[in-house]
Amino acid sequence: MKQFTGLPASPGIAIGSVWVYAPTAVAVASHTIANPLEEIKRFHDALKTAESQLQALEKHTLETIGYEEAAIFEAHQLFLQDPDLIESIEMMVEGEQLNAEAAVSQAIEQYAEALLAVEDEYFQARAVDVRDVGQRIIRCLMGIADDHADFPNRPVIVLADDLTPSDTVQFPKDRLLALATVRGGPTSHTAILARSLGIPAIVSLPLPLALIDGKSTLILDGSTGQVTLNPDEATLQQAKSAQAAWQRQQDVALQAALETAVTTDGHQVEVVANIGGAADAQTALTYGAEGVGLFRTEFLYLDRDSMPGEDEQTAAYQEIFEIMGERPLVVRTLDIGGDKAVSYLGFTAEPNPFLGWRAIRMMDERPDVLYHQFRALLRAAGATSQPTDLRIMVPMVSNIDEVKQARAMLDQARTDLHDEGIPVPEKLQFGIMVEIPAAALQVPHFSNYVDFFSIGTNDLTQYTLAVDRTNERVAPLATPYHPAVLNLIATTIFNAHKHGKWVGLCGEFAGDPLAAPLLLGLGLDEFSMAPAAIPAVKAMLRRCSRVACHGLAAHVLELATAKEVKAYLEEKVSEME
Ligand code: PEP
Ligand code: MG
Repeated sequence: MKQFTGLPASPGIAIGSVWVYAPTAVAVASHTIANPLEEIKRFHDALKTAESQLQALEKHTLETIGYEEAAIFEAHQLFLQDPDLIESIEMMVEGEQLNAEAAVSQAIEQYAEALLAVEDEYFQARAVDVRDVGQRIIRCLMGIADDHADFPNRPVIVLADDLTPSDTVQFPKDRLLALATVRGGPTSHTAILARSLGIPAIVSLPLPLALIDGKSTLILDGSTGQVTLNPDEATLQQAKSAQAAWQRQQDVALQAALETAVTTDGHQVEVVANIGGAADAQTALTYGAEGVGLFRTEFLYLDRDSMPGEDEQTAAYQEIFEIMGERPLVVRTLDIGGDKAVSYLGFTAEPNPFLGWRAIRMMDERPDVLYHQFRALLRAAGATSQPTDLRIMVPMVSNIDEVKQARAMLDQARTDLHDEGIPVPEKLQFGIMVEIPAAALQVPHFSNYVDFFSIGTNDLTQYTLAVDRTNERVAPLATPYHPAVLNLIATTIFNAHKHGKWVGLCGEFAGDPLAAPLLLGLGLDEFSMAPAAIPAVKAMLRRCSRVACHGLAAHVLELATAKEVKAYLEEKVSEME
């Protein structure tokens, strides 16, 4: 029996046999071909097959997980259409009479190496995607089935050095007990996917894969990050009862999730969902979401060559508004740039994209983007069959001019639509995200221009602690439990309330049950999280007394370290009924 501790990425306990997923690259031999034209045709046929495979994968992801996750496979399809890539492969086949497999392999490798040479994790991460697509084309050329075909027939815990999002979504959900990776951070795509799927997961797990053999058994606790390899009988029995207890708690919580979350002293807390499209909107309701606290709209803009038109946007928003009906729905305007960029908005390579031209900062150079998005949102709400409760917020705000300008533009969009005789919603709120420390410190000033605030702890943590949220080496530092982050959250809520504004929180922190008593005690009005996190958070809130949590929060704000905060919260939670 051996124990290892990684970073918790998705809660739950799994016990089972282990399958090490180590995808092997298909070996490609190069040889001279006699008929280049025929070879090029074979290459194009393979591209078509790869495209239809990716379309199927995109559709599967859209139906089973959500739009955001599905967009990954749209991006892979774009690689297939890259004219430079296609041309360089054709030239190798024609000029050097190289077989298509070898030409694809060489061209892809050059492309991947070029991405890896860029000192930027976003581009480096894209190298994985490029190689993934390359392997897909080669497999299509050689008529080899997907790697996932050898996924065991029995339920397993998947262990891997690292996982691409495409690996994760392709694993059969009914046989996937849990995920653990040696690399990766808790805010990586794979961790986020695991949470969307409701599967326990651990990342940054220092477990040498060589220790695993066909007979290995594992206990994985996604809430603590603990893994036990080949447990002895007593440990196994203990884990089994912990798992059964956790499962019972989950079942009860899922059932209870459809009810409102009322604290022991009678205070009803608003619990809503983060969504990225219509699929998650539907899922959110089944998990008991009372509305949406963050609708990320990037899916509409990503992985295409031109801006989505106003009509297209309106139709996409309306589909979601119809699902949500009269429930509150907070839509975040385009938050692109940083780790996500698109070809058509004028992005250039930046040394620090997370500190660069992104989100609301695009408003000066590209006012059209925000203006049309505002119009589309208003039009969609005006056309929805029920009255909507639309709340629009802008991301990455750092100064007051941005807020004033955005608000003025929203008012303009509303007036213009009215003048054009197009119906607009009666109810409308305007807010900003608080995800830059400067914004948290200026809430009293911002309050003159907004109806609400929504705290984005993923970025607030990144910018307060100067830790890149995508860099696994510094992942342990990226904790919202850091007292500096907590004090910014407290300041935001305190000042917003003083000015009569409500406050939501839509970073991953809101979905952490351990944080719920603290956030409640700080006076948070709205908790917004991944749909799968709702049942456990509602269950935790019901165990809390709001008055007692005020005291708990006051004490936490005096603590010095994240470790102390967590230990104190764990102690207090264990004392609750
Ligand atoms: C955040 O920063 O906390 C947030 C909710 O936004 P995103 O994760 O999309 O940056
Ligand atoms: Mg953010």
